[in-house]
Order: sequence, then C-alpha cells, then structure tokens
Amino acid sequence: MAILQANSVTKIYGSNKSVPHKALDNFSLSIEKGEFVGVMGPSGSGKTTLLNILATIDAPTTGEIIAEGTNITSLSRKELALFRRRKLGFVFQDFNLLDTLTIGENIILPLTLDRVPVSEIEQRLLTVAQKLGIETILHKRTYEVSGGQQQRAAIARAIIHEPMLIFADEPTGNLDSKSAKDVMETLTTLNQKHHVSIMMVTHDPFAASYCERVLFIKDGKLFTEIRKGSNRQAFFQDILDVLSLLGGDVNDISTIRV
Ligand code: ADP
Ligand code: MG
Repeated sequence: MAILQANSVTKIYGSNKSVPHKALDNFSLSIEKGEFVGVMGPSGSGKTTLLNILATIDAPTTGEIIAEGTNITSLSRKELALFRRRKLGFVFQDFNLLDTLTIGENIILPLTLDRVPVSEIEQRLLTVAQKLGIETILHKRTYEVSGGQQQRAAIARAIIHEPMLIFADEPTGNLDSKSAKDVMETLTTLNQKHHVSIMMVTHDPFAASYCERVLFIKDGKLFTEIRKGSNRQAFFQDILDVLSLLGGDVNDISTIRV
C-alpha cells in the first residue's frame, strides 16, 4: 500500500489582485513504504509546492492527498498539525536547529512537545544518535559542530518519533561536497537498513543519484521518472542526461562529482 498519494492535484496561486498561476497541473504521485524518492526540476517548476502539499503545509486547489489510505485533504487545521507532528519528519537546507539548545535537546524536541516520558526520551535519543553516529556531540551547541554534523542532528530530529515519511528539501544545499556525501550516505543507510521512507527535493544530481527513483517536474507536470539500476554512477549519468533534456537554469546543476 502507498503511504502517501497525490491524486490529480492542481495548485493555483494568486488571488483577485494577481494573475493566477498554475504551479501544479493535475499532478499524481504515489510513494510506497520504504521508498527513497527524489524530485528534481528547474527553478519554478513546482517542486516546493508539491512538497508543501504532500506535507499538508499547503492545501491543493483541487485533487486529494491520501495518507495510509485516508483522505487527509478534508482534515481540520488542528488535525493536520497533529498529523504532521506525529507522522512526518522534516529536513531543511539550513538545518533549522535552535542555537539556544544543545544538539541533544534539539533532537528530542518533537518528543518533548508530545510529552513522552523522560526515560523513554533518553532511550530513543541514544538509539537515534547511534544510528547517525553523533553520540559524542549531543552536549554541544550547534555552533560547535560542523555543517554535516548539524544536518545529521537535524535528520535525527526528523526520525526520532518514527514518522511514516521524511521530507528533505535540499538537504545538501548548504554543505561542502564531503559533508554532502556524508549526509547522503546517512540517508541511504536509514532508508536501506532502517526502512525510513524518504522524499527529497534537490537541485544536485549527485545527491539525487542516491535515490532509488527520481521524478522530474516541468511546469507543474511530471516530465519523466527514472529508476536506479545496479549502480549509482550510471544513475548519476542518467540524471544528468534528463536534466540536459529538461533545460532550464543550467546554473542549478552543480559541479560534477561522482
Ligand atoms: P520550485 O520549488 O520548483 O522552484 P515552486 O513550487 O516554489 O517551484 O514554485 C512554482 C511556481 O509557483 C513558481 O512560478 C512560483 O513563482 C509560483 N509560486 C510559488 N509560491 C507562490 C505563492 N505563494 N504565491 C504565488 N506564486 C507562487
Ligand atoms: Mg523550491
């Protein structure tokens, strides 16, 4: 069964004042349990809009979102907030960690909000920190650790409540190539060993090559979709080929590193 599905979703921005803009045009997508899906496309093609709608941060103009078999399009604001907090995890380009808290305090934030007992929080923090290899920096502040470590902490925070799916929007966007590789390997391990389902938006073909499947969006529509075969290097080349077909802003394509 799909964990998350978009059925014929259209998103039109703009009110009486501005000219309406169709950011998503009759878009359908299904994410299966355990998948690692990438989304690519030129700037303005609708990637963030799609992620926001799937993550219930924004509502579609028409169409519906089905989560674990339930139509969530009609849930109230409060129910949606709870759904997001319990069922989804988020990883952002700029980490979104609070620098007034330690790394450990940042990671347990979702559990603190949900009033999980302290002993269980401690246990889960240890487990998740071990998964991400950040046990030794839990007492540190955000500014005392590297960008890659901050992003791994953000990933720990995104999975500590065991969400059905994590959304990552440009998770390597602020990282040097070594840290980016680190973070992508971390996400791959979480996906393959711990069965975390992931949807990632990225401009970076190198990051995308870690996904099992990559969707390409153009003008709010699905342009094409490709799957990884036996090796990541070949997939990386396939991704570059589609990007060159897609056109758009060539500057988005970062320097080649396989
Ligand atoms: P991407 O993430 O692929 O760069 P977006 O989903 O952010 O694209 O945007 C898709 C299109 O919708 C763009 O043309 C953008 O200008 C427009 N858009 C995005 N958000 C809004 C908004 N809040 N109001 C009006 N137009 C928007
Ligand atoms: Mg965007």
